[in-house]
Amino acid sequence: MARLQRQLRELGPLHPGSITEQYNVCGQPGCRCKDPKKPQKHGPYYQLSFTWQGKGSTRFLRPAQVEPMRQKVANYKRLRELFNEWVALEIERERAEREKERRSGGN
Ligand SMILES: [Zn+2]
Repeated sequence: MARLQRQLRELGPLHPGSITEQYNVCGQPGCRCKDPKKPQKHGPYYQLSFTWQGKGSTRFLRPAQVEPMRQKVANYKRLRELFNEWVALEIERERAEREKERRSGGN
């Protein structure tokens, strides 16, 4: 339990969601993105999508924001893992306590 609490404290900045990479086609005639032989789409553009309290959001990320956001998203994933681990331990602890009470003749 102490280990989990320490790991949670040490997580650092976090953010829910996932980062996707996109390539776009523009409206300019004769642009390289519409080359009939070897089209080169524009991009990559990065966006962060996440749902929080039932509401979905999408935000574009500037190139400089991509790596820090990857770290935040990884930290959030780690938070969820630690949280689940903690809850599983609490449930197990509760179960074990009830078991002990029952064996010692309590009601
Ligand atoms: Zn284009």
